[in-house]
Amino acid sequence: MYTQYINQQNPYSLYDLADWTVKQLQQASADLEGSSPQGILRWGLENFAPDIVQATGFGPEGVVLMHMVSEIRPETKVFYLDTSLLFAETYALRDELVRRLGVRFERVTTNLSLQQQADQYGEALWKSDPDSCCYIRKVTPQREYLSHYRAWITGIRRDQTIFRANAGLVEWDTTNKMVKLNPLAAWTNQQVWDYIREYDLPYNPLHDNGFPSIGCWPCTKAVKPGDDPRSGRWSGQEKTECGIHLKPDYEI
Ligand code: SF4
Repeated sequence: MYTQYINQQNPYSLYDLADWTVKQLQQASADLEGSSPQGILRWGLENFAPDIVQATGFGPEGVVLMHMVSEIRPETKVFYLDTSLLFAETYALRDELVRRLGVRFERVTTNLSLQQQADQYGEALWKSDPDSCCYIRKVTPQREYLSHYRAWITGIRRDQTIFRANAGLVEWDTTNKMVKLNPLAAWTNQQVWDYIREYDLPYNPLHDNGFPSIGCWPCTKAVKPGDDPRSGRWSGQEKTECGIHLKPDYEI
């Protein structure tokens, strides 16, 4: 059903920027402004396949992109970070996406079990030090995994958070030293949901029960109607991002 990729502490990148300069990427991003997400995806897949992979946290944006990618280049791999702390509904959605769209998932995870993490750092690290918990269970495994590709596709949108407001359609990802494609950057939440309804795509049923943004179960709470959609993530803490999209993306 999916390929499993466990963090093996491999050294770094197989690829450098090589054939693209940051200026060229910025120009490409500017040229693509106003294009459809499918047009942006086509540009990315034409330029970087097979060394390009889609990321998903199983939010509605990821579902939309999986559908678009499945129509343009169905063999494209889609990876997800399995922290071993995802909701049962999230795993069920993964399985449904395999059935409906034939998605080729790769499961990316740390080799530190939850028990080993508790033994080394204490019980419920997500409460005592969520930054470290995310670093161990998400940031490091993702960095490892991405080091084998030249480009990745994300579902981030500019209106999601202040940190994402300046996201380009195409960027140089300084952290991972690779190209980052954000085909839905200019889309609104409404456009995402309109697309899901138009194509009758599956989505996480928790979205209908007060969870607009869904991550690991210990760090996700329902929000009241009208509240910031991401306020249910790390509720009561200053943390707003897990760290996989935080670094500036504009310089080497
Ligand atoms: S979202 Fe919470 S449980 Fe998941 S990795 Fe981050 S701190 Fe840990």
